[in-house]
Parts: sequence; structure tokens; C-alpha cells
Amino acid sequence: MNQAVRETWSPALEADRMVLKELREAVGACMQCGTCTASCPNRHAMDITPRAMWRMIQFGMLDEILASRTFWMCSACYMCTLRCPRGLKLTSAMAALKRLAGIEGGRSARKNQAFYAAFMDDVEAHGRVQETSMMQRYFLKARDPMLPLSYVPLGVRMLGKGKVRMPGRGRGGVLRPLFAKAREMEGLS
Ligand code: SF4
Ligand code: SF4
Repeated sequence: MNQAVRETWSPALEADRMVLKELREAVGACMQCGTCTASCPNRHAMDITPRAMWRMIQFGMLDEILASRTFWMCSACYMCTLRCPRGLKLTSAMAALKRLAGIEGGRSARKNQAFYAAFMDDVEAHGRVQETSMMQRYFLKARDPMLPLSYVPLGVRMLGKGKVRMPGRGRGGVLRPLFAKAREMEGLS
């Protein structure tokens, strides 16, 4: 590991240090077998595989990690966590990467974080994503007054094609026990 890489792993903020410590501990025992990557249903949308991401964390390649969209593509399905032969808490590690990006990454990371949170909240509330409701949540969480305007052309096109539906109940609440269990596993409840 070269000196430049080491230096990127020395952030000033205490919050950064805590997240980085958590991440390195979480994936320190990874033996690079690739089971997590092979198990991930969202692998096709990631620019770096989960297996490679753990290696980059071990090497402290912070800039490259934060430039990746891999952790934003993680939908917390827990397949990697369930199948890792080392029993590593990989879904937690992906969540920690999102937190780290939120601390470090500026405006675009905050928007990604808001979108991810809106997506997950909507799935929890309705049992699936309801586009109009999810976008309302996203706009509220992003706290960017100009953001809704940037979606107007897309919204108009979707309306024209009859693709916009008002939020309904769906299977409201059916997934709440699952989310509660996940929070319990993450120590968040
Ligand atoms: S499944 Fe576990 S041990 Fe295998 S590469 Fe992924 S994190 Fe590492
Ligand atoms: S928890 Fe995230 S990284 Fe792991 S398999 Fe599911 S989507 Fe992929």
C-alpha cells in the first residue's frame, strides 16, 4: 500500500473515523471468495463488485470507494450477509458506506442518500414502491427546492403515457416486521 493511499485513510472528522473503523472491522476477515458478489441481485448495476469493495476498504482506498455507486445500489436484501462463509455483516458494511458518503460526499451524496432513504421508507410503508409517493418523500428529504422542477419534464412524459398513479394502500405494512427485524439485526432498534 503506498503512502498516498494511507493518507486518504486519515480523515479529520471523528464521525469519519468511527465509520471507517466500523467498516474495517466488518470486512477484515474477508477471504475474497466472491460468494457475496455471486449472491447479489443488484450486482449488474454496481460499478465495483461487493467482493472488490471489501478489498478496497481493507486497503483504505477512500477516494475510489466514495466515487463508486456500488453501495447506493445495495437494497439491503441480506443475501450476501446470509451466504458469506465468514459470517460477515456485509449489509451493515454497505449501510456504513452510505453513512460515510453522506458525511464526506457533499451535495450529490446527500441526494443519493435521500433517494435511498425515500425508496426504503416507501417499500416499508406500501409493501412495494409507489412512484408518486416515493418521489414526494425524496423531495422532502433532499431539501432542495429546485429538485422537483428538474423532474417536471419526466413527470409530464409519464403523465402523457398514463404511467403516474396516485398513491394507494398497496400491501401497506406487510413488510414492517421484516424491516423491524433488519433494524434489530443492525442494532438500530
Ligand atoms: S462472501 Fe464473505 S468471505 Fe467471501 S468475498 Fe464476500 S465478504 Fe469475503
Ligand atoms: S445486501 Fe446489498 S450488497 Fe448484499 S446482496 Fe443484497 S443488494 Fe447486494
